Amino acid sequence: MGSVIYGPVPSWRLGRSLGIDVLASRSKFCSFDCIYCQLGETVHTVVRRREFVSLGRLEEELGAVGRAAIDHATFSGMGEPTLATNLGEAIRLVRSNLGVPVAVLTNASLMSREDVRVDLAQADVVVAKVDAPDEALFRLVNRPRVRTTLREIVDSIKVFRKAYQGKLALQMMFVEANRGGAARMAALAREVGPDEVQVNTPLRPCAVRPLPPEEIDAVRAEFAGLGRVISVYEAVRPETTPLDVPETERRRPRMPQEGR
Ligand code: SF4
Repeated sequence: MGSVIYGPVPSWRLGRSLGIDVLASRSKFCSFDCIYCQLGETVHTVVRRREFVSLGRLEEELGAVGRAAIDHATFSGMGEPTLATNLGEAIRLVRSNLGVPVAVLTNASLMSREDVRVDLAQADVVVAKVDAPDEALFRLVNRPRVRTTLREIVDSIKVFRKAYQGKLALQMMFVEANRGGAARMAALAREVGPDEVQVNTPLRPCAVRPLPPEEIDAVRAEFAGLGRVISVYEAVRPETTPLDVPETERRRPRMPQEGR
């Protein structure tokens, strides 16, 4: 088992981000096996929620964070955070201990469950993944291991959107396979009506190549009129010093330009 807390890491979306990994595993637990995943192939396919880490252990690690400069605490790490049944309680515990806004990065595969939406609603920011314009590309890019469809996921994000008081962002990862679907993905984003759209391409080492800046600019143009739209190439990353470098780099491999 690894640590629960890692980072802080420089996030293009969340500033200085302290990572909270409620799976705390040395290998990936996920309901997807995305072709671009920086964690490699999904080692443990998990589609049922359970407790991975106790709140007592999380609290112990929170006590050691000290006065690290952070802008957000972000639930992410070695897989999908909504797989943890104690996610909602963990979010409240982190916020009360650290006094910073709490974000959750989710693949949204379990969002059709009411208990998952209730847990996510505890967060100040929810970043939900939508990487495809249709079912075929959903299966190709995200390789879901859970029985769901793109339509079910989009509909469940819309249900969440209606009740959620915090900031909802859609993260859309673009690679060669789904590049041609940008206009239809923008239509899905318009259906949801998020506070922000994050146009991404995988810059960290993984199995597929990122799209170059000019292609991402063209993708971004498809999202015109959607309010706040940001792209990974235009973002500014703050300086951070991780509390534990190996535990941080296991979850977040360095980008080539970051060096050693
Ligand atoms: S949902 Fe996230 S952790 Fe899971 S396979 Fe996709 S990128 Fe990796």
